[in-house]
Formats: sequence, C-alpha cells, structure tokens
Amino acid sequence: MQYAPRMNRSAKPEHKPLDGVSANAGPIASPVRAGRSRKSIGQAGRARGPERAEIDEIPRLGKPAPEPQLAANGVRWLPVPAWNRLGWLWHGFSTRMGGLSRAYCAEGSPGELNLGFTPADSAEAVAANRRLLAEAVTGDAATPIATIRQIHSNIVVVAGRETANRKPPPKADGVMTDEPGLLLGVLTADCIPVLVADRKRRAVAAFHAGWRGTVQRIVEAGVGRMRLEFGSAPEDLVAAIGPGISQCCYNVGDEVLAAFESQFAYARELFVEVEDPDPVRVRYPMLFLNQRAPGHQPVGRKLHLNLIEANRRQLLAAGLRPAAIQPAGRCTSCQPGLFFSHRASGGHAGRMMSVIGIRPGR
Ligand SMILES: [Zn+2]
Repeated sequence: MQYAPRMNRSAKPEHKPLDGVSANAGPIASPVRAGRSRKSIGQAGRARGPERAEIDEIPRLGKPAPEPQLAANGVRWLPVPAWNRLGWLWHGFSTRMGGLSRAYCAEGSPGELNLGFTPADSAEAVAANRRLLAEAVTGDAATPIATIRQIHSNIVVVAGRETANRKPPPKADGVMTDEPGLLLGVLTADCIPVLVADRKRRAVAAFHAGWRGTVQRIVEAGVGRMRLEFGSAPEDLVAAIGPGISQCCYNVGDEVLAAFESQFAYARELFVEVEDPDPVRVRYPMLFLNQRAPGHQPVGRKLHLNLIEANRRQLLAAGLRPAAIQPAGRCTSCQPGLFFSHRASGGHAGRMMSVIGIRPGR
C-alpha cells in the first residue's frame, strides 16, 4: 500500500499525449502521430516497458538534427555538424530546395533540386542541378560526381576521377574511393543514404539502403569492402545516416518482416505494430476480417520498419563505435516540403543526392 501515492504522482507524466513526447524530435520533424498506439513486436509476451521507450522510434544519439544550409547558388543542403572539423572531407545531403527542375513543383513556384535522371524531368535540368550541388559542397561546379545505377543489391564498386562520368554508371548500391577530387553520389527519395569516411586512411564511401539492400547487408558488406580495398580499420571509420523514411511513416508488409527475420537475430527489434487509424476499418472490422489472407497481421494493425536503426545496427556489426555514427534524424515522408519522398508523393518524386569526397591538397 505504501507505493500507492507514488504511483498516483507518476501517473500524470506517464499518460501525457504522444504529441508531447515528440516535441524533442527536432524543430520540424513530428514523427509520432497522435491517436495511434504502438508496441515493439520484439516485446510481445514480455512485460512492457515504460510508454516513452516504446514510441521513441528514431534513435537519438545526443546530436540534434542538422539545419539545412543555404549555399550562395540557392541550393539548400544538410551537412553533418560533427564532420565539419574534418577539413579533408567533402560531404552533404541535398534537399529538394534550390535548382532548376520544374517536374515536381507547382506552376509559379521556384525550381527544385531533382538530382535523378527521372522520366518526368529534363536531363538538362538534372545535369545543371548536379553542378549546383557540386558547387555548393566543393566550391567548384566542375567537380565530377561518380554515381551508380542503383538496383537494391549488396554490390559495391570502386570509383576514381577517370571513371566518374562513365555512362551508363555501373550497377551497384555502394561506391567508394580513396582518390581526391571527386564526389561519390547516391540517390534517394525515402531509402536510407549512408556515408562513411576513414579518418586515418582517407577513404570514403556512399551506400544506398532500401529495405531489400538492407536485408542483403549492403552497409555491412560495404564496410568489409573498405577494409579489403583500403585497409580501413573499423575504429577509424565515421558514418552518417542521411534523411530517409523513418519508422513513423514506413508501413511495410509481412513479407518484409519475414525477410528480416531470415537474416537478423535482432530483426523483431526493428519493427513496431501501429494501430491502423482507418475509421472505416475501426467501424467495420468484419468487412476486413473476411478479406484477410491466412497468416497475415490482425485487422487494424500495421507493421512499421525502422530502416535507419537497421542500418545503424549494420554499422555497429561492422565494428564502428556507437559515437562514430551520426543520424540525420529527419523523415522524408514527414517533411515533403523539404525532401522528395516517394511515399508522400504517391510515387511522383524527384531524387535527393548524398555526396562524399576527398578534398584535394589536404
Ligand atoms: Zn515520418
């Protein structure tokens, strides 16, 4: 009985609305939507922890999300604040702001920074946008950018200045170099971009990690390839996980959970079940019960994957220290005004580019 007063006192903060908890998620991001409850499916059958831990879906490592920088040429891009002291390193994550593309914006609005050669956009605008990004990050619009034709694989290629502008680019989802004077670029519009730098050997890498590439361990394999190619030691590596779709918005099917479970002992820790807020489903559950295929999720529940955490786990598995990994902490789907998002736009989206390179002469 002596515990009763204490429980009563703590009851209030424990039951504050979910919105209140998301207030520390950054100035723009609002990853937790009111009215949904969620639980980690890894906790099923175990005693449930405090409410706060369950909704804290974006790993927070004590670093605030960086604010977009405005370059003199109008390009808005995100640096990694902790990397600014690495004077030899070029790096950045683009946003959709700045640039000359007209394909994904309303008439009359300023042009945008689509960096992917998508069917909807003009190739001239995309090529010009790539020069603007190179100029924003390196100070020289002519800095070559080595890109890859991304195929959701675990293939990694080594790039150099000579091969940077090869057409068509090689099929891969990771690209690395120890040559100064070029940028490596991966394109995303919800998938997770990961940049890695070796502070000692001065080598860099960029990876594209959608769920299929993540299941195939693109980042873990990529760090292994850096060890092979450049003699990189994991303790010398730093990594940044760029803006991508976060767990708040990344609803996936049962086949994704099955694929992760087949590969990772920690798979269940990457997923949460979110109550489906669809009012029709809530009101007429029998309607959807009849349509449910055997073995699928219960009606009224959706699986959400934390792809950012999945890739952080791969960096840890590859030997990086937790403090060496910087998450951007931004959800592309929650901020469609700042980022291109495949999901938020219903598939009609441009592409952002994440770039990394070695500054010459340092
Ligand atoms: Zn979101």
